[in-house]
Parts: sequence; structure tokens; C-alpha cells
Amino acid sequence: MANTRTSEELRGESQLIKQGAEARVYLSQSQERSMILKWRFPKKYRHATLDRSLNKQRIQSEVKALNRAESLGVQVPRVVFTDSRDGMVAMEWLNGYSVREWLGSKAEGQVKADDGMRLDMKSVGIDRDTLMQLVGEQIAVLHLSGIIHGDLTTSNLILKHHPNAVYIIDFGLSSLKPITHYTSAEDRAVDLYVLERAFGSTHPAFEAEYTTLLNSYARRVGDAEWNKVNIKLHDVRLRGRKKSMVG
Ligand code: AMP
Repeated sequence: MANTRTSEELRGESQLIKQGAEARVYLSQSQERSMILKWRFPKKYRHATLDRSLNKQRIQSEVKALNRAESLGVQVPRVVFTDSRDGMVAMEWLNGYSVREWLGSKAEGQVKADDGMRLDMKSVGIDRDTLMQLVGEQIAVLHLSGIIHGDLTTSNLILKHHPNAVYIIDFGLSSLKPITHYTSAEDRAVDLYVLERAFGSTHPAFEAEYTTLLNSYARRVGDAEWNKVNIKLHDVRLRGRKKSMVG
């Protein structure tokens, strides 16, 4: 560990920023560095031994995905240290707003971030098309690295500035494959479909822009890979539609 404080002490000095069902996320700010602490806290409803081992496994698999992604050039937060016994990972804090916040729910004008800040794309020198392109490109790099994210939403994409770059977070549901083309086209299509649904439900006005995202993804993975994924994406959409009709 980078310092002598325990993970628990570190959390005690940090600010709780997200409380989820599985994990709590803290922001630890100090003069040396700012970090995000993701703690898979003990679950009372699970047997203690099983709970510890599950939390440990999940942290380890998330860290493995983050490390693989970083080493293959995907923009993800750098892992600072892991305390898998305690179920905690400390990672680089990405000081930016999520794509969900940047898009807001309206088609035009300024949007308000969760912390009340008014966001304006012009002020950071980006437009919606460029943002969509950056997202498509990052997902392509991720898939080319043999990683399936498992929970791609606009909240799990963070825009950082100077220069503008999109980072992918939350690898808690990710899966790794040994080599790029062994990730099935179906898995990659499902990853894209999950994001497509997120765009459709959270940002209805941006459905059209999703095409820009897919075009950028296609350019990056190349025609051969894109054709395989695109065929599966049609199937997955069809299944999704049938499912929502059945209810
Ligand atoms: P997660 O459980 O990983 O999805 O994290 C929950 C929330 O914490 C995210 O939606 C972000 O708002 C925030 N968060 C997680 N990791 C980071 C990070 N590395 N930098 C900035 N914010 C983060």
C-alpha cells in the first residue's frame, strides 16, 4: 500500500460520493493525490465467509480488467492500490462529468450536472458529434483488447478535458477473453445494445447521434469485425423488441 493508513482509516477521511447496493464510492483528496476508493462493503444477508470471498473475487476481477484495459491503451482510471481482503480498490480520480450529465435530457442548450454545475460544451471546445466519436472509439479499443464491459451506460463514461478524452469506468461486471477476436461478436453487440438502450431511454433526443457513435466504432474496429458485430446487433435489437412487446 502506498501509505501506512489502513483502508478503513482512508475511507474515514474521505467523502462518500455514491452509495450503491454492492459498493460505496469515496473521494479521497489530499495534497499528494486525489483518489476514488471503491469499497465492496460486507453484506449482512450473506454468510460472512462467502461474502468476504465474493467481495475479494469481484475486486480482483475488476482490477484485472482495469489493468488489462490500461496496458492496451483503453482510457480507464489507473489503479493506485488494491486491498482485496478488505474489498477495496483505490484508483485515479477522473475529474470530469459523465456523458449522461453532458447530454442532459434536452437536445439543446446548457445542461445542469448532478452537483448543480452548468455545463456548456462550447466552453470546453467539444460538440456532440465529437463526443459521440470519442465514445465510439473508446468502446472499439476496449473490445479490441478482448474486454466486454457488461454495463455500458452513459454514467459509466466520463469526459475529461485538456485534451478532451472519454474514459470508461466501472468494470464490476466485465469479462476478459484471451485474445481480441475470441470475444464473441454477440457479446460485443450486447455491450453496444445496452448503451443504445441507455441512449434511447435517458436521452431520447440523441438517438440519431448514436449512429455517429456506431460509425466511429466501425471505423476503429475495421470492416471485417464491424460486419460481424453489426449482424449480431440486428439480432439483439430484434430480441430486445420482442421482449419489450411481451412485457
Ligand atoms: P461505480 O460503482 O464504479 O459505477 O462508481 C459509482 C460512481 O462513482 C460513478 O458513476 C461515478 O460517478 C463515480 N466514480 C467511480 N469511479 C470514478 C473515477 N475513477 N473517477 C471519478 N468518478 C468515479
